[in-house]
Amino acid sequence: ILEIKDLEKTYYSGNHPLTVLQGINFSLQAGDTCAIVGPSGSGKTTLLGLCAGLDRASSGSVVLNGIKLDNLSEDERAQVRNQYVGFIFQNFQLISTLTAVENVMVPLELRGERNVHKQAMELLERVGLAERYDHYPTQLSGGEQQRVSLARAFSNKPTILFADEPTGNLDEETGQKVENLLFDLNREAGTTLVLVTHDLELAEKTDRIIRIKGGAVVSDQVTSVINKD
Ligand code: ATP
Repeated sequence: ILEIKDLEKTYYSGNHPLTVLQGINFSLQAGDTCAIVGPSGSGKTTLLGLCAGLDRASSGSVVLNGIKLDNLSEDERAQVRNQYVGFIFQNFQLISTLTAVENVMVPLELRGERNVHKQAMELLERVGLAERYDHYPTQLSGGEQQRVSLARAFSNKPTILFADEPTGNLDEETGQKVENLLFDLNREAGTTLVLVTHDLELAEKTDRIIRIKGGAVVSDQVTSVINKD
C-alpha cells in the first residue's frame, strides 16, 4: 500500500539548505500498523507528510496505493489524498470558523457525499463528542479538538491513516480512547495505520516500529506478537 524508496527532503529556507531526510526506504502492506519513532527534529513529521502526499520529496519515490506521487501536481496529490488518505495533524488543524460538525463535514462534501450532516454527527458520536457538535474549536479542549480531528480523518473512509502524535497532548484516559478508535478502525475496516509517536507503549502495539535518527532509518523492527496484548 505504501512504498518509499530513497526518499530525500531538503528544505530551502534562509541561507542554508537543510537536508532533513536522507535516503529513507520501507514499504507497508495493506492493513499494517506501523509506528515511526525517533528523537525530536529527526524528520518524522516531514516523512509522514511526504508519505501522505502533503508535500513533495526532493528526490526518491513515494507510491501510495499503486499511485506514484512524485511527479503529480499539488491538485493531483490533493485528489489522491481525498480519495485514500486520512491525516491527523500534531496541532489538529481544524478550521477555526467552522463548528465541530462542520469541520467533519468538509471531507464528506469534497467527496460529493449525501446526508453529510447526519454522517458527520455519527462520526462525532463515535469519538464521544456528539453533544459538542456546534462548538467552535476554541471552545473545545485539546483532547476534544483531537477527537474532532480524528472524526474528520475517519470521514474520509481512508485506506491509509497517518497520525502525527495522536495521543501526544492527551491525558491517559482520552489517549487510551483515541488509541482504541485507531486500532478499531484498523481491525474493522482494515485501514493501514502509520503513527508518529514518542509513546513507546503505543508504538509496541503496532506491527512494525521504524526508528529514524538524523533523517535516516536506524532500525526497522517487526514487533513480536508477545509484545502485544
Ligand atoms: P518532533 O518530534 O519535534 O515533532 P520531527 O522528528 O517530527 O520532530 P520534523 O518536524 O520532520 O521533525 O523536522 C525535521 C527538521 O526539519 C527540523 O530541524 C525542522 O526544523 C526542519 N523543518 C521542518 N519543516 C520545515 C520547513 N517547512 N522549512 C524548513 N525547515 C523545516
